[in-house]
Amino acid sequence: MWGITIIACMSFPVVFGQNARLELRIIPLLFGTLYGGFLSGIFLSALIILYRLYFGIDIGFYNTVLVLLFSLPVILYFQKSFASSKKDLRVKIAVGLSFYYCFIGLTFFGILRDFSIDYLKVQIIHLIFAVVVTWFFAMLEETIREIHQLRLELHNSEKIRVISELTSVFAHEIRNPLQVTRGFLQLLNEPDLPDQKKEYIQISLEELDRANEIINDFLSFGKPSIYNNERIDVGYQLQRVVNIIQSYTLNHNVEIKTDILANCWIYANPQKLNQSLINILKNAIESMPNGGIVWITCTSTNDGYININIKDQGIGMTKKQIDMLGSPYYSLKESGTGLGMMVSFQIVRSFKGKIQVNSEKDIGTEFIILLPKIT
Ligand code: ADP
Ligand code: MG
Repeated sequence: MWGITIIACMSFPVVFGQNARLELRIIPLLFGTLYGGFLSGIFLSALIILYRLYFGIDIGFYNTVLVLLFSLPVILYFQKSFASSKKDLRVKIAVGLSFYYCFIGLTFFGILRDFSIDYLKVQIIHLIFAVVVTWFFAMLEETIREIHQLRLELHNSEKIRVISELTSVFAHEIRNPLQVTRGFLQLLNEPDLPDQKKEYIQISLEELDRANEIINDFLSFGKPSIYNNERIDVGYQLQRVVNIIQSYTLNHNVEIKTDILANCWIYANPQKLNQSLINILKNAIESMPNGGIVWITCTSTNDGYININIKDQGIGMTKKQIDMLGSPYYSLKESGTGLGMMVSFQIVRSFKGKIQVNSEKDIGTEFIILLPKIT
């Protein structure tokens, strides 16, 4: 892409005086080298020389080669520190190198061709223009990168928060089957055993399996997601999410009722989908301080979507509150972060899905998540 930009720059220069051309090839060359590294720099420079050769060998060609000879090593030298610097320093390096390149260009122009005040004026305008454009694009690029990075960190911190919140409940949940097992093992130790020996062992094994399952689900939720989408069965993931959240519902006196259609395939990242569903489910559970029922259904619509419906009997929201949903840090809870909904919305959007919210104060809330279906 940088190469194409260079060719475009060189093909449409501004010509002034005796066959002197001015253009902004430095910008793609600079950004291509700074962000792309050593090989890109060599490739782009070779491209410039070859393409200039195509226009014929004249004084302009020697000028091009000499300027590259003097500036490329400097750009490559700074590329290393550029790669490991923060935003502000990066912008400074880019602007400095752009200035240096233009200055070298201006100097050789003066040496190789006749020096005149008029040429110098034009050259200085060119230099200022190139430096300002470099500054603008470096700022733009770095700001976009920064925003992207922040967004990634936000996802992770929200996930860690949910994990730490769920951890104590999980520990409790794992202790239950262990204690049951311990009780039965103690019974098995009695000298005169009743006939239920087999049954005791069976129950103990089931309880241990259950503990194992809880640990597995917990671990798979905490695993950093490798950002790959795959073909996944929504019903299966929903079931897993319900398993993960089960202990949390018991604590809140909430019952989950599911009606899940089999074979609902979508193309998504399972860990991210789970994270987004858990955030929504947690809110549904938390909206019912005195307990209640959460209904989860999964159906397939006629217009090509999988419809996941999560409905609670909680405190509900007003129209205004629904509109605020998904804005960062919007929370009505004492210890809320107001990030859960934002992350969920972002994740669903990244799968090309939609979320609709219907809610009535003191009656309940319904989340409708539509995800594009695949066969
Ligand atoms: P948090 O849960 O940390 O407050 P969220 O982004 O998950 O942050 O939710 C933002 C706010 O949206 C909540 O504080 C709550 O007021 C409201 N909300 C979300 N889901 C529901 C729901 N199912 N019922 C009622 N209010 C809800
Ligand atoms: Mg929440």
